[in-house]
Amino acid sequence: MPELPEVEVTRRSFADRIAGASILRLEMGKPLRWPLGCEVSALEGRSVRSVTRRGKYLLLNLDEGHLLLHLGMSGSVQFAQVLPPRGNHDHFELLTSRGTLRLHDPRRFGAVVYAQALDVAPAAKLLGGLGVEPLEAGFDPLVFHRALQLRRSAIKQVLLAGDIVVGVGNIYASEALFMAGIRPTLRADRLSKPRALRLHAAIVQVLMRAVALGGSTLRDFSSAEGQSGYFQLDAMVYGRQGQPCRVCGTPVKAIRQGQRSTFFCTTCQKA
Ligand code: ZN
Repeated sequence: MPELPEVEVTRRSFADRIAGASILRLEMGKPLRWPLGCEVSALEGRSVRSVTRRGKYLLLNLDEGHLLLHLGMSGSVQFAQVLPPRGNHDHFELLTSRGTLRLHDPRRFGAVVYAQALDVAPAAKLLGGLGVEPLEAGFDPLVFHRALQLRRSAIKQVLLAGDIVVGVGNIYASEALFMAGIRPTLRADRLSKPRALRLHAAIVQVLMRAVALGGSTLRDFSSAEGQSGYFQLDAMVYGRQGQPCRVCGTPVKAIRQGQRSTFFCTTCQKA
């Protein structure tokens, strides 16, 4: 599943190139997770001012209104002057004066939604509950610690919920908790301040590294149909059940938390 770093890498792959383009035509394939929310023809003639990101949503900011794009479970985006003919799994295509933006999404959990403004429905509903951006200055270590003090769920569940800090998905939550030496099952309100600060730093580091890695393997990523294998290649714990911990050699343990797999080292990560 594309997580925040993959979405950010995707954004960087076309944001500069599409900025200033005018929309010639929009084509939709099979239904995605949510309806577009406007007539396809209504967007013709509008222009793309910029592409930003909020959580895992890409925001195409138009001269009037916004297109919110979500990659869902299996989505990937391509932008090029000329693309091969549209295939079975290409469910959204924005033809512009600078090239064609295409969403490829075999499982169709992705979405493209039009919003007249970001502070009213449907955008307000989709974006409203999101926590602070982990790679922006608003992600403050002390505020993070205070927010954790109010939660009694397991720390990994709290990270995945995305309402304190957004975009720390399953892979990066496992990796950040390993880096910070924290057991994923530990109650969030039991984290001491130093440990919360360590976790804060680990989250930023893990995500920044993933964005940097993704940037260097951009071509592989965009042709890989939403698989994020490039980061998993050097994961410390994620996906490594039974394999020796890269730090201490203890076999990596896997458990289920809230129907998601969690990987950790029983020696390096303390409760
Ligand atoms: Zn270990």
